[in-house]
Amino acid sequence: MQDMEFTVEQGKLWMLQTRGGKRTAKAALRIAVELANEGLISKKEAVSRIDPASLDQLLHPTIDPGAKRDVVATGLPASPGAASGEIVFSSDEAAKLQADGRKVILVRIETSPEDIHGMHAAEGILTTRGGMTSHAAVVARGMGKPCVSGCGSIRVDYGRGTMSIGTRTFKTGDVITIDGSLGQVLAGRMPMIEPAMSGEFGTLMGWADSFRKLGVRVNADTPEDARTAIKFGGEGIGLCRTEHMFFEETRIRTVREMILAEDEQARRAALAKLLPMQRADFVELFEIMKGLPVTIRLLDPPLHEFLPHTQAEIEEVARAMNTDPRRLADRARDLAEFNPMLGFRGCRLAIAYPEIAEMQARAIFEAAVEAEKRTGKAVGLEVMVPLIATKTEFDLIKTRIDATAQSVMKETGKKLAYQVGTMIELPRACLMAGDIAQTAEFFSFGTNDLTQTTYGISRDDAASFLGTYVAKGILEIDPFISVDRDGVGELVKIGVARGRKTRPDLKVGICGEHGGDPASVAFCHEIGLDYVSCSPYRVPIARLAAAQAALGKAVASQA
Ligand code: PEP
Ligand code: MG
Repeated sequence: MQDMEFTVEQGKLWMLQTRGGKRTAKAALRIAVELANEGLISKKEAVSRIDPASLDQLLHPTIDPGAKRDVVATGLPASPGAASGEIVFSSDEAAKLQADGRKVILVRIETSPEDIHGMHAAEGILTTRGGMTSHAAVVARGMGKPCVSGCGSIRVDYGRGTMSIGTRTFKTGDVITIDGSLGQVLAGRMPMIEPAMSGEFGTLMGWADSFRKLGVRVNADTPEDARTAIKFGGEGIGLCRTEHMFFEETRIRTVREMILAEDEQARRAALAKLLPMQRADFVELFEIMKGLPVTIRLLDPPLHEFLPHTQAEIEEVARAMNTDPRRLADRARDLAEFNPMLGFRGCRLAIAYPEIAEMQARAIFEAAVEAEKRTGKAVGLEVMVPLIATKTEFDLIKTRIDATAQSVMKETGKKLAYQVGTMIELPRACLMAGDIAQTAEFFSFGTNDLTQTTYGISRDDAASFLGTYVAKGILEIDPFISVDRDGVGELVKIGVARGRKTRPDLKVGICGEHGGDPASVAFCHEIGLDYVSCSPYRVPIARLAAAQAALGKAVASQA
């Protein structure tokens, strides 16, 4: 579609200039599909013409481009789309107002898993700290909600219920808009354009699928995620972060009992209460996925994320555990960590408390038996161990998982096919991949943690200086957004090569946030990964990017 300028002078037509006409994503799709259907361009050309990142416009509301913007602050474009709403500073408040039919934007310094209900209730999320793979960013992307993270110029005062930027102050109830595609915070309510998926979208996606070589899976933790994933064409779950299942109000108390237990017996008692809940989660996921592969990851985050914070919460858990609140508070203090994303987390939890991994494995296998009974289809089961650095760690946990599978098969009289594999998200794991692949049946690269550990940049604190690095040209782009091919990418290549040397049929995927970034998807195609796994709303982007990579199109980073 061309934008042409011409003039007619003394009966003669003069063409002055012509250039590619600007178009919305919806128009671009229609033009490409109609041109291909009329035989003017090939389907390959049509697929190559659409910018994968522009598909966001079809999946999320966007601000009317004609509207005047009063931008008060800029942070990271952590999750696309835009939303307006009243400011609230707590998740409980967000949930309360939403129940009354109000629209809110949740503003937090940073979010933690305890904010899930508030994030669900809010139209969008704004945080003053945190990078592109911070909790707020990852969870909002999964929910398909706009999020601006790491907006360091905003000062939040929870006590007063205010946020200020320079001389401007906003208080609880004031209306703001966030644009998660640009990382902007705007004063007031903005006119929105609602997303509209057209028939051409499905047609073009079908063509893209016929060209791509990479599989596209989804990072999905809830039945809702899994349904969205299927709707957008996800071919399985590449990462189910089980910790997200533990934060519901009815469960967190039991999780706290489990964590704060002083001995194995008490821990097992709490785990016994969690088992049926966890099993029910998995049955539902497996039923929705109907035989497609599902990778369930064992508990990963530092335990201290689950700890009770207030005196009232400590007393509540102490009552449930029949123990002294002061002893409980001491135990909670013991578990507190200063740099928890490199601390007591990942497989280290399962090494110290194997009974936690056993409970999760039992829930997974019992659920697989139940789901197969209900759907008549065997579950494509993959159990994944997080954050391993050594083969010995992996083997210790795999032995427990296998033993649990054997017990469940014996008890139920059903045979279960499954694989046990690992996240590769530490540099040492990349280097030792040859060893690890002796027993690990698949690899999934966790490039969020691999980026953090390769650069030595905390994924939660990066926002405060990475912007300067990008502005000064030290980095071309935030490496948490688009994979650093030279450094992190080299480690991934080493991991793939060494792993496949040991086990030629090793299945290899990626489940870090890069799995939904077009330039990173192109990299994954080039190095021969089997699949990428990304948040549900990025699945169409990944499908198109994978097709373009297969067609040899150079894709620019999605900044
Ligand atoms: C990763 O580290 O890339 C990953 C997918 O795991 P998480 O983000 O849950 O640490
Ligand atoms: Mg990780």
